[in-house]
Amino acid sequence: MKQALRGVGVRELAMARPTVARDRSASRRANLSMVLRLLRDEGARSRARIAEATGLPKATVSHLIAELLDGGLVGDGGVERGRGAVGRPGQPVEVDGRAVHGLGAEINVDYVGLLALNLRGEVTFERRRQLDVRAAGPEATLDAVACLTDDAMAALRDAGGRVVGLTLATPGAVDMDAGVVKYASNIGWRDVQALAGLRRRLGPGAPQLHLENDAKLGALAEYVLAGADNVRDLVYVTGQTGVGVGIIAGGQLVRGTGGYAGEVGHLRLVPSDELCACGRRGCWETTVGRDALLHHAADPTDPVRDPMIDLGQRLAELRNRAHAGDPRTVAALRRIADHLAPGLALLADILNPRLLVLGGHFAYFGEHLIDAVTAQVHELVMAPDAGGCEIVLSQLGLAGTARGGALLSLDAVYQDPTAVMAGAQGLSDTPRPSTTRAQGQPA
Ligand SMILES: [Zn+2]
Repeated sequence: MKQALRGVGVRELAMARPTVARDRSASRRANLSMVLRLLRDEGARSRARIAEATGLPKATVSHLIAELLDGGLVGDGGVERGRGAVGRPGQPVEVDGRAVHGLGAEINVDYVGLLALNLRGEVTFERRRQLDVRAAGPEATLDAVACLTDDAMAALRDAGGRVVGLTLATPGAVDMDAGVVKYASNIGWRDVQALAGLRRRLGPGAPQLHLENDAKLGALAEYVLAGADNVRDLVYVTGQTGVGVGIIAGGQLVRGTGGYAGEVGHLRLVPSDELCACGRRGCWETTVGRDALLHHAADPTDPVRDPMIDLGQRLAELRNRAHAGDPRTVAALRRIADHLAPGLALLADILNPRLLVLGGHFAYFGEHLIDAVTAQVHELVMAPDAGGCEIVLSQLGLAGTARGGALLSLDAVYQDPTAVMAGAQGLSDTPRPSTTRAQGQPA
């Protein structure tokens, strides 16, 4: 999984503005950041080759590497990419940061979850809790997220780790700067001050907090994984109660003017009269979302429709039934495939992505969906061979969104490595520089 953090700068993609070096300490920060990002994107490198790539004097590079080694952000080892074993241009260094963790928390219709990654891209904490979020309301839901966060931070700190930030993912449109969920129809939230509420619950030990839409973070996680293959155009399709997409076009995350880009779940694409959570009828997600799948696959009393049972377990049970050829499950999946294809074809026509990544329940049932969906998309898309678009299944399970959040949290380290090098204490214990990414959030 180490490659997961290479190949693309998450922050650059999501919301970056380049750091401008104004004084000596700013220039040191910028140089440390440049070296660390080079190691992330290009893999292990000797000091000599880092100097070559950055244009910095060798002595400066040695000094910067010594600082990064001291701070635990890089380590010796690894093999340089693109170099044979012949000759020895110097001991390569590589990104380490095994004690530096970023958190991603997710609020979804029927669960809250949290995942932590360290700088090496290893999952260091993961937990999901079933919760009827719409019925619970924002206060109880934020209580649950705060509880998961406290548990994760305690566990990671007990193990000697430092937590650099938490990114909260929710469905719907979010105002990232204000930390407000503007409108999320599936969980019934409108103008919820999510980050302020979370910060209040976490108290003075809160890490830096960020907010982003779930589909966009899922796209980010997939994009980082696909980075090694030079994919620049990717659409991630969430398979949840609601269905939305995260779009990366030409290497840029598409948010749109109000952050609503990708809300395709509410398009009317196939004939349907089903009532949607948004109040209208016939929205695409009422035909391909999780409720549609469960409704057609099982009776109301069937345990797979019991929201108090872990979603992963329920989906696994349905998958077993599909594998066993259960006619009702198979028919429900065929129905999903038939309704999914026109939407995917539309996305392929408009965006011409290299990859269409199916997440959530679509990924669970992939082998029962993908051939039928791919064949239909190829028929529907105007361009030959669907414009070169490949439909693939997410490998990240239900944790893709939280993983994208954790990656975004960790990106703060690449922007300013000194923030975690200053001391052995957690970031949250040190004063926050005013230039970092919590701007605009209510205190
Ligand atoms: Zn709708």
